[in-house]
Amino acid sequence: MRDGVLLMIPGPVEVSPAVAEAAAAPPPSHLAPDFIADFGAALADMRTVWGASGDAQPVVVPGSGTLAMELALTNLLSPGDRAVVVVTGYFGDRMIEMLRRRGVEVTAVRCGAGEIPPLAEVARALEQASPKALFATHVDTSTGVRVDVEALAGLARAHEVLSVFDGVCSVGGERFEMSAWGADVMLTASQKALGVPPGLALLVVGPRALQARETLAVPPPLSIDVEAWGPIFQAYEAGTGRYFSTPATSLVRALRASLREIVTEGVERRIGRHQQVAEGFRAAWREMGLALLPANGAFAADTLSAVRFPEGIGPELVGAIRDQGVVVAGGLYPGLERTYFRVGHMGPVVGWPEALERTVRAVGNGLLALGHTVDVDGAVAAAEPHFRA
Ligand code: PMP
Repeated sequence: MRDGVLLMIPGPVEVSPAVAEAAAAPPPSHLAPDFIADFGAALADMRTVWGASGDAQPVVVPGSGTLAMELALTNLLSPGDRAVVVVTGYFGDRMIEMLRRRGVEVTAVRCGAGEIPPLAEVARALEQASPKALFATHVDTSTGVRVDVEALAGLARAHEVLSVFDGVCSVGGERFEMSAWGADVMLTASQKALGVPPGLALLVVGPRALQARETLAVPPPLSIDVEAWGPIFQAYEAGTGRYFSTPATSLVRALRASLREIVTEGVERRIGRHQQVAEGFRAAWREMGLALLPANGAFAADTLSAVRFPEGIGPELVGAIRDQGVVVAGGLYPGLERTYFRVGHMGPVVGWPEALERTVRAVGNGLLALGHTVDVDGAVAAAEPHFRA
C-alpha cells in the first residue's frame, strides 16, 4: 500500500510484502544460479496453478495481457484460418480486432451487456464456421461476467476445435482445471489475481496447441514464438539457463514469490477465498441497494464487482471513493462507461479483511458524501463474516 491509499481496481492490484521485496531488489542476471532456480520453480508452479499436466508448456515473456492474447493467436492461426469468438465485453472485441489483423476470418457470438450467450449458440457457430479455434474471455473485466470455461472447452473438443481462454482477470482467482477440462491455451498477465506488478505475459500452452504451432503455415513474430522460447523454458526447468531474449528478471523473481505463496496456501483454498470475498462484496452491495451489471449472480465473477450507480449518482462516485482513500475503477463497456463502477477483489488482498472492510466503507461513505442515503455499518456487517471466513 502506498501513501495510505488502497488500490482496489481490477488490476494492477496490491501485492504481498514478499512480492514487493522481490520486485524491488537489485535485478539479477538471467543466468545467475539462484535466478535459474527461481525461474524453473515458477514455471513448475504455473502448471500447478493452471491445473496443467506435464506435457503442457508454461510460457513467461515480458509484456502485457494484450501481448499474451497476441502470442496465443499468432502461434495457432495463420491468415485465412477461421475462428469463433465468444464476446462478453470489451476484451472479446479486442481479440476480434487482433484476429482480423492476422487475416483470420472471425465469427462472433455476442450477447447483451452483463449476459452470457447460450451454449447452443456457440455450438451452432462452431458447426457453421468449422473454425480452427474457439476464443472466450473467462472473466471479462468490462462487465464482471464469467463464462463457463469447462463447458466451452468441452464443446470445442467435441467439435475438434482448439480452445483459447483469456484468463487475464481470472487465473489465480477463479476455478480452472486446464487438463481435466481439456482447454488448449489459458493466458494471463502478472498484475491481476496472480498478485505481481504489471509487465509479464503468462500462458500455459497444451499439447494440441503446441502441435498446431509446429504445422503453422505463417510463423508468429519471433519475439513471441512459442517454438523459439520453448527450449529456453525447458532449460530453466532443467536447472540450466539459456539465452534467447532477456527475461524480465525482477518480475520473474516477484512471480516466483507470489506463486510460492499461492501454492503453499493451496490453489483450491486461494480460489475459495476469492469466492468468499466476492460473496461478501455482493452482500454489501445488496445491503446498500446497489445492483450488479451481470444479469445473474450465477455468472458474476469472483475477481471483481461491476456495480451500477444508483439513481441520481454518476461517475463522480469514483472520485468520492478516492477521497475516502480507496481507488476503484470506472466503467469500461462501450456505451455504458458512465453507468457503473468496478471494484477489484483479487490477489493477496483476499486475505486482508481490514482492507476489504475499508473498501466497503469507502464506497458507502462516498455515496453518503454525494447525498445518497445508505447504511454503511449495515453493509460492513453483511460483508464481514465472508471476509473473515
Ligand atoms: N483481457 C482481460 C480480460 C483484461 O482484463 C485485460 C486488462 N484489463 C486484458 C485482456 C489486457 O491486459 P493488459 O492491460 O495487460 O494488456
